[in-house]
Amino acid sequence: MANESIGSVLVVGAGVSGIQSALDLAEMGLKVFLLDETTAIGGNMAKLDKTFPTNDCSLCILSPKLVAAGKHPNIQLLMRSEIIGLAGSPGRFKVKIKKEPTYIIDEKCVGCGACAEKCPVKVPNEYDMKQGVRKAIYILYPQAVPMKYAIDRERCLHFKTGKCQLCMKACQNDAIDHEQLPEEFDLDVGAILLAPGFELFDCTIKTAYGYGRFRNVISNMEFERILSASGPTKGHVQRPSDGAAPKRIAFIQCVGSRDQQTGNTYCSSYCCMAALKEAVIAKEHLGELEAHIYFMDTRAFGKEFEAYLHRAEEEYGVVVHRNNRISNVEQQCDRSLLVRYHEGAEIHEQQFDMVILSAGARPPLHVDKLVKALGVEQNKFGFCETEDFTPMDTNVPGIYVCGMFSGPKDIPDSIAQASGAAGKISALLADSRGTMVSTREFPKETDVTGQEPRIGVFVCQCGINIGGVVDVPAVAAYAKTLKNVEYVEDNLYTCSQDTQEKIRSVIGDHKLNRVVVASCTPRTHESLFKNTVREGGLNQYLFEMANIRDQCSWVHMKEPAKATEKAKDLVRMAVAKSRLLEALPTPKVKVEKSALVIGGGLAGMTAALGIAEGGFPVHLVEKSTSLGGHLKEIYHTLTGLDPQKVLSETKDKLSKNSKVTIHLNTTVKEIAGYVGNFETELSDGAEIKQGAIIVASGGIEYQPKEYMYGQDPRIILQTELGRRLEKKEFDAKTVAIIQCVGSRNEENPNCSRICCFTAMANALRIKKEHPSTSVYVLYRDIRTYGFAEEFYNEAARIGVLFVRWDVDGPPVVTVENGSLTVRVHEKFIEDEIELKPDLLVLNASTRANPDNKELQKMLKVPIMKSGFFLEAHMKLRPVDFATDGIFLCGLAHSPRRIGESIAMANGAAARAMTILTKDEIESEGSTSIVNQEKCRGCGDCEAVCEFAAARVTEVSPGVFKSQINDILCKGCGTCVAACCNGAITSRHFKSNQIAKMIESALDKEAKA
Ligand SMILES: Cc1cc2nc3c(=O)[nH]c(=O)nc-3n(C[C@H](O)[C@H](O)[C@H](O)COP(=O)(O)OP(=O)(O)OC[C@H]3O[C@@H](n4cnc5c(N)ncnc54)[C@H](O)[C@@H]3O)c2cc1C
Repeated sequence: MANESIGSVLVVGAGVSGIQSALDLAEMGLKVFLLDETTAIGGNMAKLDKTFPTNDCSLCILSPKLVAAGKHPNIQLLMRSEIIGLAGSPGRFKVKIKKEPTYIIDEKCVGCGACAEKCPVKVPNEYDMKQGVRKAIYILYPQAVPMKYAIDRERCLHFKTGKCQLCMKACQNDAIDHEQLPEEFDLDVGAILLAPGFELFDCTIKTAYGYGRFRNVISNMEFERILSASGPTKGHVQRPSDGAAPKRIAFIQCVGSRDQQTGNTYCSSYCCMAALKEAVIAKEHLGELEAHIYFMDTRAFGKEFEAYLHRAEEEYGVVVHRNNRISNVEQQCDRSLLVRYHEGAEIHEQQFDMVILSAGARPPLHVDKLVKALGVEQNKFGFCETEDFTPMDTNVPGIYVCGMFSGPKDIPDSIAQASGAAGKISALLADSRGTMVSTREFPKETDVTGQEPRIGVFVCQCGINIGGVVDVPAVAAYAKTLKNVEYVEDNLYTCSQDTQEKIRSVIGDHKLNRVVVASCTPRTHESLFKNTVREGGLNQYLFEMANIRDQCSWVHMKEPAKATEKAKDLVRMAVAKSRLLEALPTPKVKVEKSALVIGGGLAGMTAALGIAEGGFPVHLVEKSTSLGGHLKEIYHTLTGLDPQKVLSETKDKLSKNSKVTIHLNTTVKEIAGYVGNFETELSDGAEIKQGAIIVASGGIEYQPKEYMYGQDPRIILQTELGRRLEKKEFDAKTVAIIQCVGSRNEENPNCSRICCFTAMANALRIKKEHPSTSVYVLYRDIRTYGFAEEFYNEAARIGVLFVRWDVDGPPVVTVENGSLTVRVHEKFIEDEIELKPDLLVLNASTRANPDNKELQKMLKVPIMKSGFFLEAHMKLRPVDFATDGIFLCGLAHSPRRIGESIAMANGAAARAMTILTKDEIESEGSTSIVNQEKCRGCGDCEAVCEFAAARVTEVSPGVFKSQINDILCKGCGTCVAACCNGAITSRHFKSNQIAKMIESALDKEAKA
């Protein structure tokens, strides 16, 4: 690497993975240029209705990240841009960028929508998958970040005819400039991260399904938009041909995936779960709807996916078929559709009102140009070429990859890998971190104690989002009549940059000491307004918000007068509370710049190395006598790499890195403290301090009670088979491998994710090294997701025999006259088969480490019924715990493959470094406090506190009292509600404040 690196990074592609990595990089002190070819960030996730397996509203959970990236002082958005050239070397690249004109002056555009209202040109809306229309001047979607309009040059009447310009006349801010030209400029960056994501397979290619010919055959993404409340049918499930509610719908899986015909032989990984989710949501919309899904295998391999599959079948009545690929769809005279399929040995025919094609993923359309400019290699499908053990590295040093472009994956895996790539870049540019970033400085706070309240109220129209329903000027006029309200304004967008400046200046001009904003949700916008208020010189807790979008214009869309009245009520209540608001301190804590990693397997070693290479001391604690965990027993991978080589290289790097302290034969005895300041006692006597902790305690291999394991030496586990193959101790002539041993059953409903890969790796190795040996794989579903599907195909091609069973007819193992016998009901031929293997291999599940329970108590973090740890959010925060400063990776999270553990471990290291790179961190001022006299020490608060902030301690002999740790407390108020003695108060939600709000809600005449 060049001597001095440049402390900035170019992230290409602003889907969820690009956004996550940009946020992590910026938090680690690097300047980020976040580039996308479209006009708004969010990528494909912004189009989804809900996400499996949590059924969270996709945009609701994405929005805070969009807003955070949009307003981060160290992230610069480069929209409608592309890379056209590259020079330099890792650490010091010069990248040539071309930015297409949007014909809008961004600094002037407030996103009001007046231009689009007047624009006469209607164009199919890409965001709704062309099912609705947008104007020629448009924003990508209603909550777009940045909220800046763009003109579609190809469609705009002015560009076609030289006339029109209605948008120019409508724009009050002179933000439209039809003369704009493309710009070219250079960026100096230390590293480049590719996150250009994916596109959907073009379903017209599979002509047999009638997509593009039959109106009622649509793609999965089109269906996502139909399901979405912000979609073309406002969330009403309708048949495209006539708008009628469908009674029967079918999902056809693997369209453009696992398909020899199109050459897309890989599995797209997300579509099975996406179809289940879409079927469940459709049934939530239309209770009577019948939903059928035609799978080849159900690939429900992720955390809690199997449980979701069961819920879909049992609770929602989704009908799951397992069959060969559907051959064709026929349209009937009434536009209903006939789907033909095999089930068992029989051919069935079913009629449906709609057919949804589960389209697979393909690399993005323009990506070839991008990778060519950078010299990055693609695999044979056009995705970025990576290796199992270096999942974020491209062939070009200094250029990394994450998200879908490195291979099909779901959101949490994309996010974990995005953080992982950020971690690797942070290590590469460790010497220049902090050199190109600015920190936000706030002016000295005005002391408002004892002052009569002077309240400013800002009422937002949010374009037509609120203003289209609520009479915003009337709400603003009403706010002026309220006591202590000194200034009122209604804005097209209160969150726009110019309104933020306005708020800052009127605080000073009108000597305001409280601010109320009536707009959208605090979840996404409160922190923005709090910062603005701080910039205006006020304490951030002298701010209050009324949500007149979600609670008025959205839910009372059809009753504008009532929505307006309710908005007035909410504003009156917010003003009432704001009069009683008090300034609160924002505690700051110094950060101990070192980390603790618990567990010395692959994930723990990788995380520790990531942190050490990032420049921070790290203690790696391993309870056994050597590092490596399960990796020590893995001799080959599906892709033919050597895990033992990786193990010895990683151990070598750890031992040579002076920042790493390894504690073998050691466990954690006690952990105290909080983010930035943990104190840990180890069983080897060491007492260490650290700012962040990573849990990498791994998992264990299940020891089967079934299939006569332990009763006959010819019955072994998959790991033992791997060892025998490696040590040349394998000599069997007929091998049967039973899958899902101890997985997907009542005791352990989870899929163990790894087993189909190990079965394939071992089966292939046997067939290659011992071609005359017969290998039978007895499976329920083969789950070789992603590019590993190739190996499944190869195994079948070279003669591995696959026997499908289902849960009602599992294999039965006996020893008859000395010979090992396996009987099983084969599902495709619907017949009993009998095997006489001389070696029976059980592919046992991966279970949670029993030590997790002890760790959980010490760390006060949640574990699941399965014994695996529960992360902060299953979709968007896969490597974080809800408790700040503690992270997790590898098998401690859930079963995952080597490459996935490596990506996640680097991700955990990056998340930890977002803390370690700071000298001090701010914590929440709106915390809870215990009245010691009233407290009975019952412990209810401790039991409900998700953040381990409430603790009951013995303050004097036999006297127990609760105390809240201000740094850990998030101010959620759960303890306040749980305390039956009324001993706990929330500093920002005091009883008198809430009572005043209720009083004013009940008294419409109250002026505050
Ligand atoms: C129908 C459907 C349903 C799904 N449901 C779920 C679900 O419920 N749960 C779940 O976990 N996953 C789901 N997924 C998968 C999920 O959408 C992806 O895992 C995730 O969105 C991947 O994010 P990404 O950032 O890698 O890619 P993307 O979202 O594709 O983002 C890539 C970004 O890069 C930009 N870009 C592309 N090329 C270039 C270039 N050359 N230059 C500059 N910018 C470029 C694009 O404009 C885009 O903004 C679903 C997918 C589909 C298709």
